[in-house]
Amino acid sequence: MTTHTTRMLIIGSGPAGLSAAIYGARAGMHPIVVQGLQPGGQLTITTDVENYPGFRDVIQGPWLMQEMQAQAEHVGTRMLWDTIVSVDVSSYPFRAIGDSGDIYEGDTLVIATGAQAKWLGVPGEQELSGKGVSACATCDGFFYRGKKVVVIGGGNTAVEEALYLTNHSQDVTLIHRRDTLRAERILQDRLAAHPHINVLWNQAVDHFIGDATGLTGVALIDTVTGARSVEPTQGAFVAIGHAPATELFQETLELDGNGYIIVEPGTPKTAIPGVFACGDVMDHTYRQAVTAAGTGCMAALDAERFVAARGFAAAQATERV
Ligand code: NDP
Repeated sequence: MTTHTTRMLIIGSGPAGLSAAIYGARAGMHPIVVQGLQPGGQLTITTDVENYPGFRDVIQGPWLMQEMQAQAEHVGTRMLWDTIVSVDVSSYPFRAIGDSGDIYEGDTLVIATGAQAKWLGVPGEQELSGKGVSACATCDGFFYRGKKVVVIGGGNTAVEEALYLTNHSQDVTLIHRRDTLRAERILQDRLAAHPHINVLWNQAVDHFIGDATGLTGVALIDTVTGARSVEPTQGAFVAIGHAPATELFQETLELDGNGYIIVEPGTPKTAIPGVFACGDVMDHTYRQAVTAAGTGCMAALDAERFVAARGFAAAQATERV
């Protein structure tokens, strides 16, 4: 068991956590980033990124995160491979315990744990997960090459997943519970123009149907008429949004009705001085890589000011066994 100490402990390694690390390292905070279960965050399970400023050509999400991590390390961040299982913010320094048994102590704490895909919670979904039901087309779409697939949802994610799946399948159906999409107009236009995508409007998933081979269909209910039907498919991608990863903070920080960390408006400051939240874990409105990076930067600047105001000793990141 090792105890790691730092002026800035960052939990999470998506754009928010790594941007905080870059700014924190350059300010002499000797940050430690504990990477978590999905190092690099949600961008590592996407492909094309067209809206991160600075790149004229389309870039790949996993590549962008590798570059961000390399930049963070280059300026002095220590990246540690562990998953935090408990956090104590009741006294200074803040203290977190990893799955490995290691202890992490930070004069400041930056929470950048992000968000995860939501599931429908209908019968058959869990049982058929990995056997035809998935929440990530870019991870699993390849397995359904040449097969009929469906995507459930009406936001940007659902439309992007449907478009992406046309790389593998010529028979993609988007199933949405209303008659209008929430996705951006440009994506809606691409969807409507695509010859291999069909949309089923006003359809809610009642349950997933499967047999020993895996998923065989999706049972639907018309949200207007109540009529029932079955859409045969071997691959169903649930793309209905995300839930913030805040289980660790339920008892200690103020969360909103959807579980997002509440911060002082316009800042990354939580109610506990020295504890900051940035990225998707506190932002249910914008949820973009670039906004996550922006709030990560803000968290680092505020953490630096907090340390300066309290006059903490200028300790380097250290380790003791
Ligand atoms: P959203 O919350 O935007 O959309 C979720 C969709 O799922 C909605 O259409 C919603 O329906 C539907 N839905 C939710 N719950 C259920 C349910 N229980 N049963 C059936 N349908 C359900 O989530 P996204 O993941 O699409 O996007 C999240 C954020 O990330 C957004 O801000 C989006 O703009 C952004 N994003 C941006 C991208 C980009 O810029 N390239 C790519 C992907 C996401 P309803 O419309 O009826 O509420």
